[in-house]
Amino acid sequence: MDLEIPDNILHVLEALDRSGYSAYVVGGCVRDALLGQTEHDWDVCTDATPDEVKHVFEDTQIIDIGTEHGTVAVRSGGDLVEVTTFRSDGAYADGRHPDQVTFESSVEDDLARRDFTVNAMAYSPVRGLVDPFGGREDLQAGRIRCVGNPDERFSEDALRIMRALRFASVLGFDIEKETAAALDRQRGQLNRIACERIREELFKMLLGNDFVAIALAYRDILAVCIPYIEKTFDFDQHNPYHAFDVWEHCVRSVAFAPADDPVMRLTLLLHDVGKPETFSVDEAGIGHCYGHAAVSADYAQEICRHLRMSREDTSRLVHLVRYHDFHDPETMKQMRRMLAKHGLERTRDLYAVHWADVQGMKPPEVPIKMEHIERARQLLAEALEEDAAFSLADLAVDGKDLKELGYPQGPLIGQALSTLLQQVVDEELPNERDALLAAARTIFTESL
Ligand code: ATP
Ligand code: MG
Repeated sequence: MDLEIPDNILHVLEALDRSGYSAYVVGGCVRDALLGQTEHDWDVCTDATPDEVKHVFEDTQIIDIGTEHGTVAVRSGGDLVEVTTFRSDGAYADGRHPDQVTFESSVEDDLARRDFTVNAMAYSPVRGLVDPFGGREDLQAGRIRCVGNPDERFSEDALRIMRALRFASVLGFDIEKETAAALDRQRGQLNRIACERIREELFKMLLGNDFVAIALAYRDILAVCIPYIEKTFDFDQHNPYHAFDVWEHCVRSVAFAPADDPVMRLTLLLHDVGKPETFSVDEAGIGHCYGHAAVSADYAQEICRHLRMSREDTSRLVHLVRYHDFHDPETMKQMRRMLAKHGLERTRDLYAVHWADVQGMKPPEVPIKMEHIERARQLLAEALEEDAAFSLADLAVDGKDLKELGYPQGPLIGQALSTLLQQVVDEELPNERDALLAAARTIFTESL
């Protein structure tokens, strides 16, 4: 069996081989190459120590990126290639980092410290595939299985719990029975892991094709990492529009959100998190959650903080959750109002959320009426085409024009511009300079 390896990586392997060391590509790149995916960072492992690696590549650019862990980066063909000395990890007192690492001379020892069998294979064009834990068979069977005793592996480093779910979601794999049982038993250990590392895995997991199955089967693990979601589990909505409980609805809606946008996918996962708290049943026995979007947005804000999300991602997500429950504009005037309120980007985002939300209400085989959304999307396209004014920047006059009319520096200028924009959006005024200046004069006179 031959794996296709890029030339600059082959060059690194050959240079180490020529100097009498053994060298392999290892880990995720071997897994993905066996799956026929070549877009991957290639990692190299070797029995050469970091100093020996530096010596072999002394004529090449070398960057020290963690000699204590045995890793050196070698520039090859314009890329930096990470070369790591075979190592084993000592005890993990803190459930996160090995207390010490020891350099090893055999590739098998290095593979034994890795998390899952599919990630614990090495390959060299000279020596072939090294696969001591049956990774290739698990890859063919579509199975995530720990290397060694799963309870021990997850308590050594609890991030592996999230990695198991992430690989299962992205690769569309099952989790082997013993590994799955240990995931559940060890899930509390996730509390020891830094939230930003959890977020990184969660974001990758959200983009996986199999996210729905994983999030339904392993919801108790996600509940350790994401505050407030547990209340949505099995929460019956008593509403004919909804076929699922709140959690399942949210999870299913994620699958209809853009596949490359983790913030949008997390928005869908959290968009109804405030429903249980706002739930009431009317006389006809129908459930309602009045005001749930605002409550969900407050919870979402806390969740973003817990996950150490950036300010920008947080503000986008919270905005989308807060306004997700809108009525589709039916007229151009309503559409312009929506654009004036949210801006173009957010309006587009709100439509993506809305679309996914509605799709996630029923099983895929039940047809859902999407005409009203289609109609609103068409209105949005038309509004953009006719270049309708929807923000202060688009207004045909600005603050400078108002000052020339005699407005004093101060808040009156901003207030007047907002009033003018409102009138343009409501079609009481055309977005034309002369008309706007005349209206501005009237506002000014009335303010005196
Ligand atoms: P991707 O790069 O697509 O996220 P990957 O498998 O390459 O996937 P990395 O985080 O880049 O994942 O790690 C590279 C390799 O290092 C893994 O394939 C695995 O063998 C090993 N590894 C990474 N993280 C851990 C961990 N927490 N515990 C044990 N082994 C790990
Ligand atoms: Mg990688």
